Amino acid sequence: MIFANLHDDIGNDLFDHKDTEPNRLDTFHYPRFHQGNMRFSAIVCCFDGNQDWEMMKQTVRYAEKCILENRYFSFGSNKEIQVFIAVEGLCGITEDPEEKIEWLYAHHVRMASLCWNDENALACGAKKGNKPLTDLGKRVIHTMNTVGMAVDTSHCCEWNFYDIAKESIKPIIASHSNVKALYNHYRNLSDPQLQVIKEKNGLVGAIPVRWFVKKKEDNATLEDFINILIYLKEKIGIEHMALGFDFMDYIEGMEDSNVVGMKDITKIQNIADALKHYSFTPEEIEKICYRNAYDFMQKYLR
Ligand SMILES: [Zn+2]
Repeated sequence: MIFANLHDDIGNDLFDHKDTEPNRLDTFHYPRFHQGNMRFSAIVCCFDGNQDWEMMKQTVRYAEKCILENRYFSFGSNKEIQVFIAVEGLCGITEDPEEKIEWLYAHHVRMASLCWNDENALACGAKKGNKPLTDLGKRVIHTMNTVGMAVDTSHCCEWNFYDIAKESIKPIIASHSNVKALYNHYRNLSDPQLQVIKEKNGLVGAIPVRWFVKKKEDNATLEDFINILIYLKEKIGIEHMALGFDFMDYIEGMEDSNVVGMKDITKIQNIADALKHYSFTPEEIEKICYRNAYDFMQKYLR
């Protein structure tokens, strides 16, 4: 089975290694992608609230340069793996949002969330509080709709979520979130939120990182994660399901972040095998693992 991933913080990883491993995309990431059969991925640049606009530009520009100059990854379909840049947290935008979103778009950013766990001039993270979207945040959503950038609601608080759903005339994505009904984590989605994503023809990228899967995170297994996919299928249907892996195993100290039974990107076929075991049809498995995310994003990648 081939796979697509709506969330992977590789943009930051590349930037962190820019002096020591300038070819890290090819030398480190490619063999892993190839082994897992990952064919389509977000290259995420995450900004946690402490970065200004200059720092954001530097990070995005470097990720763009790496993608343009490597051997196996491409913004188009001419190499083995197709990617796009996603930004997680727009804390560097405190004025002129239209101009700045246009700059990001011009540098291959095709998906963005307004905040990470922080509160900034645009939005408020679910970990930080529960507040309305700011006027500047609304202008960002309108501009994203206009230029053609997918709106990601993972990380924002509930109040922001409903404001974004109201402001955005395009479908919304929760690129890496699970469901509150199975585990009440502040980053997981309530049933009414899932319903809104479905009604807006959006996508939920389920995340197999232990601490979003169940309360006793140390024991979270691939089966626990499959339970989330079963729940999503019943609640919103296959058409609105995808995967947002958020791999962290390549970050020092985070090696065991994934559920037991799928330790890193090289073991993602285990998800397809487990879905088959739980009576998902080959067509359903292909949609969850690859097709839905790929089709959704293609509209933005022209
Ligand atoms: Zn995140």
